[in-house]
Amino acid sequence: MKPASFEFHRARSRAGAVELLTELADGDPKIIAGGQSLVAMMNFRLARPGHLVDITGIDDMTGIEVDGDRLRIGALTTHRTVEKAGLGVLSAAMRWVGHLPIRTRGTVGGSIAHADATAEWCMLAVLLDARIRVLGPAGSREIAAGEFFHGPFWTALEPDELIVEIVFPWPLPPAALTEYADRKGDFALVAAAVDLDRERTVLGGVGPVPLLVDSLDAEEIAAGLDVRDEPGVSAHYRRGLARTLVRRAVAEASP
Ligand code: FAD
Repeated sequence: MKPASFEFHRARSRAGAVELLTELADGDPKIIAGGQSLVAMMNFRLARPGHLVDITGIDDMTGIEVDGDRLRIGALTTHRTVEKAGLGVLSAAMRWVGHLPIRTRGTVGGSIAHADATAEWCMLAVLLDARIRVLGPAGSREIAAGEFFHGPFWTALEPDELIVEIVFPWPLPPAALTEYADRKGDFALVAAAVDLDRERTVLGGVGPVPLLVDSLDAEEIAAGLDVRDEPGVSAHYRRGLARTLVRRAVAEASP
């Protein structure tokens, strides 16, 4: 299918993007970054924005910087750039994100804003207590990842706000993310990420948002999951996947 008609706008600066979002508020504007999720949703008519605000021309929202005890990743940084950056669990986890062309265009900020419950960036942000820095008409604010994700495709972001960067604590702990999907490159059926220092696990695919559990015990975590039978995937199967994936993630993260 083709998308419904829309008007295209190019933002040249962060403030310019926010201005466009504010000015066009009555016409249901949407930011477009890598387009790897939004274009598919528009083609299926699951999203029908009246205006697209392209932010890829904003040159100060790309890049990775260590700033004291913080690692700052610009929202327009692609998954592929992080994959090649040698950043421990963040780089290693990128192998699970779609296929190479998707990782080459898709952005960290786009993943966080899109908020798929099994998206690797959403899980990593919750696991590592990242902060999402956003800019809106009233200025800039930071939102803790644990408070950012409200449900599938639903976040604390206001319609006129732009994600500017994602800030992780630095250095990163010994951690790993692993997952299972029926086909390579698909979103995971279940995914698990662990942080050995804080002895915590985040699971994807077992609820509407990444689920944070203060344990590394695979048996205990699997037994405590509130999952139901769904067509093609029984609760028993999903629990079993969670158990296996937590074990694997702990083994991968261990020195
Ligand atoms: P876009 O598609 O441009 O935008 C997505 C949403 O985010 C839109 O609502 C847009 O308005 C909003 N947005 C984008 N940037 C910002 C910003 N800076 N501030 C505020 N809002 C913003 N993703 C995974 O995580 N794991 C996978 O396994 C995976 N597999 C995929 C497989 C396929 C076949 C495809 C097509 C995609 C897959 N993706 C997967 C999605 C991919 O990672 C996308 O890159 C990502 O979800 C969105 O990033 P984007 O830059 O393409 O955002």
